[in-house]
Amino acid sequence: MSAIELRGLTKVYPGGVKALDSLDLTIPDGEFFALLGPSGCGKTTLLRTIAGLETATGGAVVIGGRDVTGVQPGGRDIAMVFQDYALFPHMDVTDNIAYPLRIKKVARSTREQKAAEVGARLGLDKLMDRRPGQLSGGQQQRVALARVMATQAQAFLFDEPLSNLDARLRLEARTFLKKLQHELGVTTVFVTHDQAEALAMADRMAVMESGHIRQIGTPAEVFQRPANTFVAGFIGSTPMNLLDGVVRGDTVEVADCKLAVPQSAEGLLRDGEKIVYGVRPEYNGYSAEPVDGSLVGKVSIVENLGASYLVTLDVNGVPVQAVVPEGHEPALGDEGYALPRRDRALIYRDG
Ligand code: ADP
Ligand code: MG
Repeated sequence: MSAIELRGLTKVYPGGVKALDSLDLTIPDGEFFALLGPSGCGKTTLLRTIAGLETATGGAVVIGGRDVTGVQPGGRDIAMVFQDYALFPHMDVTDNIAYPLRIKKVARSTREQKAAEVGARLGLDKLMDRRPGQLSGGQQQRVALARVMATQAQAFLFDEPLSNLDARLRLEARTFLKKLQHELGVTTVFVTHDQAEALAMADRMAVMESGHIRQIGTPAEVFQRPANTFVAGFIGSTPMNLLDGVVRGDTVEVADCKLAVPQSAEGLLRDGEKIVYGVRPEYNGYSAEPVDGSLVGKVSIVENLGASYLVTLDVNGVPVQAVVPEGHEPALGDEGYALPRRDRALIYRDG
């Protein structure tokens, strides 16, 4: 019922910045959709245009089958949580949560009952009389969430709602928010610049770059099969190795080493073609002994990742990274062999 559909959505700000460039996107009813991209790529503009806080320069916004492109924010039946929560400092928690209901002219007793109910759900029951200034960042964030939930909108829009929380609280909030959205089943667009957050929370996600969507898919699809080198470089806790190479018969030559053609590119490469060979450090096998078809180099950096190590090999001047399990980490200066998994390596032509 409350799918969100964007058709050729374009936003040009006065002064000429094209923040959204003819975006097409359909978010089905009930989906948790994450919008990921670097600062300045247009995420906030996209949310604000869906909410009606910005006017689209071109294209259409359709919510629940209704074209709302020209409709004022109040008439769109969606709720938005901003990065800074935007709580009213002079109102207590009850009034902050109930505020949208007051705007909708819901009776006071019903408002307060609803605020108490939602507040209890979010563990705010003992804090209902406090003002925002008397709450921690995490508690304020829950009040902002409660206010959104109390409105029972058709869709929730979140603009980096966890970015003001410290690391620990952020992880808790992420699990909690995901569970809550699942229970409520309300279509949600969640904006973040944190790829781990998007991967962890989303049913599906889009990766944006300068006003364009570069890929849409499930977190697994986007992680396993980034559509281009931009997405490949942006997703993953350690960036993918993106290595310049040349096709030589049934091998790919990278930094003077000969690698097997990845399974996904079999039969698709031209002899002599210049390509980018992509492999995640997690899918780059590491050996201290010579292995056929590997990248041979000297260990230049060893970083502790906790349960594993990120090892950088200098392969004829080209840095190549591999993740090595604890207990098998090499020493600096050792000779090492990195063997990309053929079923996980990827070939790009947009490098
Ligand atoms: P993000 O949320 O991904 O960081 P924004 O949507 O805030 O990106 O911004 C996208 C682009 O639009 C940026 O280049 C930004 O400078 C520009 N921009 C954002 N808001 C305005 C505005 N009110 N007027 C002019 N340019 C803006
Ligand atoms: Mg933003």
